[in-house]
Amino acid sequence: MISTLSLLQAAERDKYAVPAFNIFDESSLQAVMAAAKEARSPVIIQVSTRTVRMIGVDWMAQLFRNAAAQAGVPAALHLDHCPDVDIIRQVVKAEWSSLLFDASHLGFEEAVRQTAEVVRLAHANRVEVESEVENIVGVEDGIGVARPTHSYSAERIVAAAREARVDFLAPHLGTAHGEYHGRPQIRPERAAEFRRLCAMPIVLHGGTGLTTEEFRSFIDAGVSKINISTAVKRAYMQSALAFLETASMTDEWEPGPLLRAVHDGVREAVAPFFDIFGSAGKAESWPGH
Ligand SMILES: [Zn+2]
Repeated sequence: MISTLSLLQAAERDKYAVPAFNIFDESSLQAVMAAAKEARSPVIIQVSTRTVRMIGVDWMAQLFRNAAAQAGVPAALHLDHCPDVDIIRQVVKAEWSSLLFDASHLGFEEAVRQTAEVVRLAHANRVEVESEVENIVGVEDGIGVARPTHSYSAERIVAAAREARVDFLAPHLGTAHGEYHGRPQIRPERAAEFRRLCAMPIVLHGGTGLTTEEFRSFIDAGVSKINISTAVKRAYMQSALAFLETASMTDEWEPGPLLRAVHDGVREAVAPFFDIFGSAGKAESWPGH
């Protein structure tokens, strides 16, 4: 599998960000891959711990490999927010590209200790680790908090990340998971502070709902991975709902066209992000693509 880190380093060099979309099943996976293919963009496919428990770690890897081969763009498979070392072990064994070890519920010393352990385990199989030791607010697929309880200085986070040998960082940048009610107080200057302190790629969570200018300010500050989950969920559910309402009205119950409707809804929802993040067309600079 392609290294997530290599995608992010290429993005940093060329001043764009790689979109990381959460998918929920084969239909949304294929829709995101079709959009990436159309945009000729590198892409990161993310799976939440809840979703991977449902699909299965090996089956997910197989689905991803097939979809990535068909799309012909550089693509990485990433496990999103995982505090569960059991799932992490399976993902490492199945050689996914990378994983996010979510230690934000732990106190600092314990978070660093456990992160270092996960990194040792993951690196032994060339799986990369995104690290989160402070809370990004908002609940996503059952994981997260409404209010931040752990936040630290950038210096402290970087020192811990070096000690634990993590590959990329997910600090709190003022964004939140889920839908925004009112404008968030975004902090691109904090991303820039991390970039001054270290060479580790910086990840932005809670991307859904930000404006193009807000995304650009984060990319200019050095963010190279931007997570989009809520927009995919919304498109998935709303296109299914619209289709089912028509099915109910006409009393026609064909699942095939439902899958098509979900596929089209998700593909249309994710398509604009490749241009906004500047990743469209960047697949061409990859050897073999
Ligand atoms: Zn997240």
